[in-house]
Amino acid sequence: MRPVHLPSSLAELWDLMAAHPGAALLAGGSDLLVRLRQGLGDPPALIGLERIVELGRVQAQEPGWLFLGAMATHSLLLEHPLVREHLPILRQALAVLGSPLIRNQGTLGGNLCTASPAGDTLAPLYALEAQVEVRSASASRRLGMGDFILGPGRTALKPGEVLYGVWVPQQPAWSIAHFEKVGRRQALAIAVVSLAALIARDESGLVTRARLAWGSVGPTVLRVPAAEEALLGRPLDDASLQAAAQLARQALSPIDDGRASAAYRRQVAGNLLLRLARRGS
Ligand SMILES: Cc1cc2nc3c(=O)[nH]c(=O)nc-3n(C[C@H](O)[C@H](O)[C@H](O)COP(=O)(O)OP(=O)(O)OC[C@H]3O[C@@H](n4cnc5c(N)ncnc54)[C@H](O)[C@@H]3O)c2cc1C
Repeated sequence: MRPVHLPSSLAELWDLMAAHPGAALLAGGSDLLVRLRQGLGDPPALIGLERIVELGRVQAQEPGWLFLGAMATHSLLLEHPLVREHLPILRQALAVLGSPLIRNQGTLGGNLCTASPAGDTLAPLYALEAQVEVRSASASRRLGMGDFILGPGRTALKPGEVLYGVWVPQQPAWSIAHFEKVGRRQALAIAVVSLAALIARDESGLVTRARLAWGSVGPTVLRVPAAEEALLGRPLDDASLQAAAQLARQALSPIDDGRASAAYRRQVAGNLLLRLARRGS
């Protein structure tokens, strides 16, 4: 039997991590336990994070920033008044992540550390230009999403480090905050393609800022600066969105897998952008 340790403070966590260097960190277990059951990995021990209260906090902590603790569950975030008020795009993604059971069990930190390009919270956090805070017994560092997520299943976490939480900067007023995922079925679907789009427009309807992040179309979530720039100074109409969609399709690097072909993913990635015309009018 594999022992499970349950520290109730960060101080206890650091001691346990030092004493059990090969141990795996356990958040909600909805990814990790599935992998272990499939025989992928055999850590000598598990260290559960559920009793460390400060990892579950959601707060407006520093001026201009919201803090979302790594152990905040998807359900907690979905219902939290700060997320409801300030992060509608993250809420949209949380609402379609897994099932109620998975949302009760799974955590934001687990979703990020799994580092799947299909992880539903990732594309909104790239678009929101969030930062992650990583801590060890002796230090803390903050990284942008693109510096934290290195590839499928790979993050910048070093031995002895944990993901402490996510910092989301206060957002400018967005005219459109939109997340959409296409899966192979309506419920419990892993994204075949997803898009997080934040668009600001001036009084005459011209785009002043655009942030576009696609999931499941490359080894990590991808922003496409050329597509974002193509929208600037233009109305959000079919012509400007078609131009941006074309640039996105060229820049994205999807793969064929059991769920969809690369060609299908590239086509749908652009099509998701075209749908913003309806939301923009
Ligand atoms: C049936 C089913 C449906 C699913 N549907 C979706 C879906 O629609 N969308 C989606 O995005 N995901 C989905 N998932 C995947 C999973 O539920 C999510 O990724 C979830 O957020 C993982 O969080 P967790 O707390 O359960 O992570 P865990 O399984 O506990 O951990 C995952 C990994 O992260 C590491 N880890 C966790 N927390 C930390 C931390 N604070 N610091 C360092 N490392 C840490 C663990 O060691 C482990 O390697 C689904 C899973 C299942 C089983």
